[in-house]
Amino acid sequence: MIDMNDMNKRLKEIEREIEDYQTECKHKNQIIKTVKIGDTRWVCDKCQKALSWPTPKELNKFFDKK
Ligand SMILES: [Zn+2]
Repeated sequence: MIDMNDMNKRLKEIEREIEDYQTECKHKNQIIKTVKIGDTRWVCDKCQKALSWPTPKELNKFFDKK
């Protein structure tokens, strides 16, 4: 049996760990990535944090590669 309270507690702990990791990270290596449909961002290659919006020029370059 899955205890949802326990699952949610674990999820919260993992979310906090990710947050801490992203706070510590210097985001040295950034890549353009589609986070979800219609949402393409500069994302840190290491911690996966969505950082900033690419310029239209950068977006064109990104989509051309595909
Ligand atoms: Zn990072």
